[in-house]
Amino acid sequence: MNKISALTKPKTIEIDISRIRYVLEQGNRESHWLKKLSDQQLTQEILKITQIKRFIEKGQGDLSFRAKILSNFDATVKAFNLDVCSDDVEFLWNPRSAKPPQGYQEFNDIQSQWAQSIINLAGSSSNLRYRAWRKRQVARCKSQVFQGDETQHFPVSFELNKGCSVGCWFCGVAAPSLGDIFLYTAENAQLWQEILVLMKQTLGDAAGAGFCYCATDPLDNPDYEKFLTDFHAILGVFPQTTTAQPLKDPERTRSLLKLSLEKGCLLNRFSIISLKLLERLHAEFTPEDLAFVGLVLQNPESGLPKSISGKARERAQRQAEKEDKAINDDHSGTTACVTGFLINMVDQSVKLISPCNASDRWPLGYQIYAQGTFSNAADLGLFMSAAIDQYMQIEVKDSDRLRFRPDLQYESLSDGFQLSTRFFKHKFRHADHIKQLGEILLPGNKTVAEILHLFNICGVPSGQIRKSINLMFSQGVFDDEPIT
Ligand code: SF4
Repeated sequence: MNKISALTKPKTIEIDISRIRYVLEQGNRESHWLKKLSDQQLTQEILKITQIKRFIEKGQGDLSFRAKILSNFDATVKAFNLDVCSDDVEFLWNPRSAKPPQGYQEFNDIQSQWAQSIINLAGSSSNLRYRAWRKRQVARCKSQVFQGDETQHFPVSFELNKGCSVGCWFCGVAAPSLGDIFLYTAENAQLWQEILVLMKQTLGDAAGAGFCYCATDPLDNPDYEKFLTDFHAILGVFPQTTTAQPLKDPERTRSLLKLSLEKGCLLNRFSIISLKLLERLHAEFTPEDLAFVGLVLQNPESGLPKSISGKARERAQRQAEKEDKAINDDHSGTTACVTGFLINMVDQSVKLISPCNASDRWPLGYQIYAQGTFSNAADLGLFMSAAIDQYMQIEVKDSDRLRFRPDLQYESLSDGFQLSTRFFKHKFRHADHIKQLGEILLPGNKTVAEILHLFNICGVPSGQIRKSINLMFSQGVFDDEPIT
């Protein structure tokens, strides 16, 4: 069996190459690149790919590394113990004339395809009400949320702790300090498993696109891996992990990465909150150890912009008050990525949420449609059913009073109308009645039944108008911001 051994230090995860091949094949069974490589060649490719990956991490995380590379490439890669040549990375600064090495590109493509398969899973719920609602939320975010194209919409997130021990100043969901932890006791394990079964019954296989953290760091929970193993056994997917504590217990991190790969999870993420942490991480883990880990470089030197939500918002608010100004929410954005159920297992609370731009009303970057508590899985099931019934209708009802979202700009067109934001234009045109329908909808004071009646008087069949209204409904242009 070929094992990948470290280039820079003896300690490594030692995942066998056949396992790596297997999980990569799960990402893309058709990859010609993968098929043509022997195990030995694949080992060499992984070594090269992970060296390039590390080079990029250093460049993105540390401006001074970039400056050194530009002034003396060879001396810098040597000093940082990297095994890359300038040809391998030229594509980074010369993307028009240089291409990434094929293996690097193929490896990244496979990871991206795997990540996309989880997103596709999230959108494929067998619960048609949830599916239609999620689709509307995706469409709403696309035109409403800053960088809403990149916002993900996973169906469920479980918090296995109350709060978080890390205390990032920018925490987009304003996690409080770490409180209680949901340990894997016999009683808790039973509740957990029953809830996972409930998720599968309610949302179908799409529940497997969920994950087990939000305003929590997973590694604060000593039993995190046990919960993930149940998740995988019941929902068929080993959930992705994002942690800011990869160095809290490096051996545990190694075991988690190994377990994760064994169960077919191709991408975990480490959140890097300081340059020192990046340097320590690179000293502790070989490039190959982190082959299937994306670094989220949150350290100030990386220049990665933060959404103005949660704690970053509180800080921006203090600053704005000092300057006697208000926060400009035009680019507040969000870090939220759940369009579905956010469940805290410690206090047994549940919310139905969806991402939005952080604002005074929704400072955590998600809007809350419904919330409650539960004492067992059956209770949670009742909450979910009621929330699905109330908020996730597939089509408009006659009694719905329709109003365009207030953030949309209405503009009449010769054959219809458009609703726009800075990010996207929803166009409705090419049908005889569309222009008139837009004008009737614009004041926002009529029910569906009233609108149908108006058209009926002019002899336009209800079915035609209803179809047009439902098309608009599916694009998330009607205001459904929760009133609570
Ligand atoms: S960003 Fe993540 S790790 Fe940091 S405080 Fe918030 S929940 Fe914890």
